[in-house]
Amino acid sequence: MSKAFASQADLQEKKVSFTRLSDNAYAYTAEGDPNTGVVIGDDAVMVIDTQATPVMAQDVIRRIREVTDKPIKYVVMSHYHAVRVLGASAYGAQQVIASQDTYDLIVERGAQDMKSEIERFPRLFRSVETIPGLTWPTLTFTGKMTLWLGKLEVQLLQLGRGHTKGDTVVWLPQQKILFSGDLVEYGATPYAGDAYFQDWPTTLDKLSVLQPVALVPGRGDALTTPQLVRDGLAGTKSFISELYASVKAGAATGKNLNAIYKDTHAALKPKYGQWVIYDHCMPFDVTRALDEATQHPDPRIWTAERDKAMWESLEG
Ligand SMILES: [Zn+2]
Repeated sequence: MSKAFASQADLQEKKVSFTRLSDNAYAYTAEGDPNTGVVIGDDAVMVIDTQATPVMAQDVIRRIREVTDKPIKYVVMSHYHAVRVLGASAYGAQQVIASQDTYDLIVERGAQDMKSEIERFPRLFRSVETIPGLTWPTLTFTGKMTLWLGKLEVQLLQLGRGHTKGDTVVWLPQQKILFSGDLVEYGATPYAGDAYFQDWPTTLDKLSVLQPVALVPGRGDALTTPQLVRDGLAGTKSFISELYASVKAGAATGKNLNAIYKDTHAALKPKYGQWVIYDHCMPFDVTRALDEATQHPDPRIWTAERDKAMWESLEG
């Protein structure tokens, strides 16, 4: 029997944790579902990635209100993916901040990405009808932006391409706490359908240089010790490097996408097959890796139709 498309068969609700990393930093995590970061400054709250719908964001707001009554002034988008950002309207923030590259990707492919993601993973879009449309940044930056939430310094850093062209991490230099978005995953398979495989490991090295003592990944539990942070960075880097090496080796021997997919899925499964969404991500990841290794330096746009055609050809 063929596998159900993407994560359409994944219906199991996850348990939410709201983990305190410092007086100023919290992680809203859910057993491998997309995470949200929270930074509480002297005078304002920043939310990093919003959850997929306004109704789902209400649960983040409920948790925030258990620890502070300061206004939620800032929403930061770590990147453009729908599942991260379409709940933004719930927060009523004064500013929605993203890199200029992320803004450009929303212009170029935001609408197609939204339709594609909702069909891939319906459970992650609870009350999808409450989404008012695409989330548009109100403030963009290139490279680096610093906000002072009172005495708390908050840096938004674009350290290189990886999960997407526009990846932004949030760094609290005084406390050495990092919110990585999907550049780092923990116990969850990195989605690389819109990735830059050759750049991603180098970008991770730049995160390592910061020597975070705690890290909130895109998916998976908050990493609360330097050793766990190193494990998260190393695991993501090895997955990306090994997948790309396997795909390049297959391409070099003239194999087609289908054969390369089956080889790579089997080769990585013993080490990574227990990570959540492995079977969901692999067809997208291998397709993108072969594109990058051959004739498409930039990720091609996924549409709902292209998603289904790809899945049918690899898993049908
Ligand atoms: Zn993403």
